[in-house]
Amino acid sequence: MVRNKKLWIVITAAVITVAIVSAYLLLNANHDTYTETQAQADLKEVLPLVEKVTGRKLKKIPGIRIVTADELASIITSDIIEDRTSVESKLTGSEADQKKQLIEQQVHNLTRNCLGKYDRKRKLIYLVPSNVSATEKNTDRVNISAKLTLAHELVHALQDQYGELDVADDKEMPLERSTIASAILEGQAYFTAITVADLINSPKALEEARMMLGIDQGRAGINLAGIEFIAWHFERGGSDQVWNALDSPPSTIPELFHPEGPQQTDYADMLSEFKNDLGLRGADIKVNKPIREWTLKHYYYEMDDELRSRVFQKQFTGHMMILRANNGDGSINLYIIPDQKAIHDFISMVKKDKEKECDQAGVHVDIKYRNIPNAKADIAKRLDIKSSNDSATYAFIARGPVLIRVGTVNSELYDEQAVKIAEEIFRKIPIDQINSNH
Ligand SMILES: [Zn+2]
Repeated sequence: MVRNKKLWIVITAAVITVAIVSAYLLLNANHDTYTETQAQADLKEVLPLVEKVTGRKLKKIPGIRIVTADELASIITSDIIEDRTSVESKLTGSEADQKKQLIEQQVHNLTRNCLGKYDRKRKLIYLVPSNVSATEKNTDRVNISAKLTLAHELVHALQDQYGELDVADDKEMPLERSTIASAILEGQAYFTAITVADLINSPKALEEARMMLGIDQGRAGINLAGIEFIAWHFERGGSDQVWNALDSPPSTIPELFHPEGPQQTDYADMLSEFKNDLGLRGADIKVNKPIREWTLKHYYYEMDDELRSRVFQKQFTGHMMILRANNGDGSINLYIIPDQKAIHDFISMVKKDKEKECDQAGVHVDIKYRNIPNAKADIAKRLDIKSSNDSATYAFIARGPVLIRVGTVNSELYDEQAVKIAEEIFRKIPIDQINSNH
C-alpha cells in the first residue's frame, strides 16, 4: 500500500488557496497584529453562522493556532514523512533524502498561498494571516479573510466529526472518485464560507468571497464545480440535501458538473476548438465548464435584484473556458440570456464592477468601452482596462440571445480575432431555435 498521487489530493482538500490577482498590490499590511485572541473572537462570530448554513452543530470546537507559511509547511512535511515511514520503512539513504526533498518542495509551494488548514490529527485550525495581502485602502482585509477562512475550516471540522472526511482517507479509492470527493468536500467548505460572507453582508466580505470564487482554477475548475454542485443541492433541499449528497456523491466527473442530469447542450468541445485563436503561445486549457447562476450572482454581487432576475431567466446558460499561456491569459465565455435589455445592462454592469474592484484594490486604472467595427452582430463592444503593470481586454459580441465574451489578460486582443470567434460560435448555435422557445 503505497501512497502517492492520492496523498496530494487529500492534502489539497484541506487547504485554501487564493487565486493571485495580479492587480492587487502586495503590501502585507497589519497581519502581525492578528492574534489568537482576535481569532477566538472571530470564531465566536462565525461559528453560529456556519452552523446555520450547514444545519449541524460542532460536537467539539477545534483549537486555533496562528502560524507562518514556513511553520505550516514544516508541520505538514513532518506529518507526511512520519506517515510514509510507516508504509515505506525500507527506504534508506539517498533515495529517502530525495523523496524528502521532493515533499518539502511540494509542501512549500502549497503553503505559499495557503490561508488556513484544518489538522485532522490534532483537531486544530491553522491560520496563516501573513499570507493575506492587503492594500493601503483595504487594511482590514486580514480580519475579513480570517473570518471566512475560519468558516471554511470549521466546515472541515464538521465533516471530520460527522464522518465525511473518511472518504478522503480511503487509499484504495480510484482517482476519479477521490477527485470528486475532494471537490465536494471543498465545495461545501467554500459554499459555506461564501454564504457566511453574504450573512456578514459587508462589501469587504463580499469582495473576499469573490476572491474565493477565483480559487484553484489550475485544477480544471473542479473545486468551482464542487461549490456549484453543493449550491445546486442547497437551493433545492437546504443543508439536509447537501449532507445527503455528500453521503452518496456522484460517481463520475460529468455527474459532478451536471447535478441536474444529462444536459442537452454541452459547449465544452465547441469552445475548446478556439484554444489557439487568441494569439497565446502554448495555450493550455485550465477551465472548461458550465457557469452557473449561483457563481455569477456571487461574482457580480453588485448586480441589483431586478437586473439579476432578468439576466438569470429560466433559459440562462453559461459556459466558460480559461486559458493560461506563456505570454498571458485568455478566456472565452458564452452566455445565453433571452432578453436584449438584460444583455446591455449586464455588459455595462461589468464595467462598473471592474471599476469598483480596482478602486477597492487601490489600483488606478484607465477603463473604457469602444465599439468594435465590422461585426455581424447586435452588440459588439470592447472594454479595455489598463493599469501601470497590467492590461486586460474583454470583447462582448452578441447576436440574439447569445452573448460571447472573449478576453485576454496581458496579451493583445485584436478585434478581428474576437469577431471571428464569435461569428463562428453564432454559426454553430441554432439561435432561431433558442428564440422560438420562449
Ligand atoms: Zn478546504
